[in-house]
Amino acid sequence: MLENIRDAVRKFLTGSTPYERAVDEFIKDLQKALISSDVNVKLVFSLTAKIKERLSKEKPPSVLERKEWFISIVYDELSKLFGGDKEPNVNPNKLPYVIMLVGVQGSGKTTTAGKLAYFYKKRGYKVGLVAADVYRPAAYEQLTQLGNQIGVPVYGEPNNPNAVEIAKRGVDIFVKSKVDIIIVDTAGRHGYGEENKLLEEMKEMYEVLKPDDVILVIDASIGQKAYDLASRFHQASPIGSIIITKMDGTAKGGGALSAVAATGATIKFIGTGEKIDELEVFNPKRYVSRILGMGDIEAILEKVKGLEEYERIQKKMGDVIEGKGKLTLKDVYAQMVALRKMGPLSKVLQHIPGLGVMLPNPSEEQLKLGEEKIRRWMAALNSMTYKELENPNIIDKSRMRRIAEGAGLEIDEVRELLEWYNNMNKLLKMVKRRRGDIEKLFGG
Ligand code: GDP
Repeated sequence: MLENIRDAVRKFLTGSTPYERAVDEFIKDLQKALISSDVNVKLVFSLTAKIKERLSKEKPPSVLERKEWFISIVYDELSKLFGGDKEPNVNPNKLPYVIMLVGVQGSGKTTTAGKLAYFYKKRGYKVGLVAADVYRPAAYEQLTQLGNQIGVPVYGEPNNPNAVEIAKRGVDIFVKSKVDIIIVDTAGRHGYGEENKLLEEMKEMYEVLKPDDVILVIDASIGQKAYDLASRFHQASPIGSIIITKMDGTAKGGGALSAVAATGATIKFIGTGEKIDELEVFNPKRYVSRILGMGDIEAILEKVKGLEEYERIQKKMGDVIEGKGKLTLKDVYAQMVALRKMGPLSKVLQHIPGLGVMLPNPSEEQLKLGEEKIRRWMAALNSMTYKELENPNIIDKSRMRRIAEGAGLEIDEVRELLEWYNNMNKLLKMVKRRRGDIEKLFGG
């Protein structure tokens, strides 16, 4: 079960086992948890091989402890297993927006149609449901009940066996009555053996409806078997995305998610219960944070984010040195925010030139002064307009006064910040073609 990973993280971070052995133990726990959640064994081993490879090739950044660094790598690789950076866009890009739901019988398709309708209704859209599942007689009743429960109109023709006809008429009627989002619950098929028929029917309905999104509903309890179904669906429908239901009721959820992610299809939502509001937008990174134990890894991820931001700006500084672009106050601001995330200050202050604490071992008092200065400068940056941050040259005396007042500072402090900023840009220009010096200058 994936829940076991959380305990493994906790054990790894707080235990006293020596690092190398703790890493081995953790990797074993991770493999066990993934395999028992029906993640494909090949995927599991390539995941852990990748983690080990990164451990041997990369170097922990100075702001992270070795154990924290290890967990950040695990986080990264697990996120890739579940879909990487994919953040599904669930907002309709045009209105009216037609969603076609397909799936085998019992996958939770009709329930999910209701959940989706509720999801969009809560966000202020006018929603309509079309009951075009003609294979299961009770589907129409079920959808009507769901519709009544959430106050969403349902179109259906209980005695008409032609699903395409019903769907077409339903969509037309809703479009005429200015419904924003139309969700069509299409014909389900029996068991997973009839997938081909399911996909054929989907194509037929697709031709007629020309929907904006086609969503395949998959029951999580089929685990890694979801791979075949999802990949064929993915090939058959270029705009397709996937909803995985019953994540609450099975140990195989991890298997289903990773299998679908491996096909390249986007998982848009997951169903986490029978109730109408138990539908979540699926975000691989957020999901992995939860598996790893949000409380334990949040601080690590903040540091990593800070570090990435810091490196982005270091790179920009490099560009300025090469004569490309210039550093704006916005960058300076981002840099300070990043540095704070990376904490602790004693390590971080050395990265900011001109604060008077670029010593290898600043004293308590120097640290306090540095911290205070950053706080005050950030207040000043906060009370600048976007334009001023982008183009500090426009900051004249009256703007300085306004900024100082807004930040509760003396005007001289704002001036000092601007001077520091100008010096920084000058310095950067000076080191042009003396790249070796940059490290020394910025303490990196
Ligand atoms: P359909 O045949 O695909 O339309 O399936 P239904 O919508 O009728 O759902 C089949 C069963 O699965 C019903 O009992 C639903 O309550 C249940 N179900 C659907 N989604 C979820 C879910 O996310 N979690 C749980 N626990 N049950 C679900």
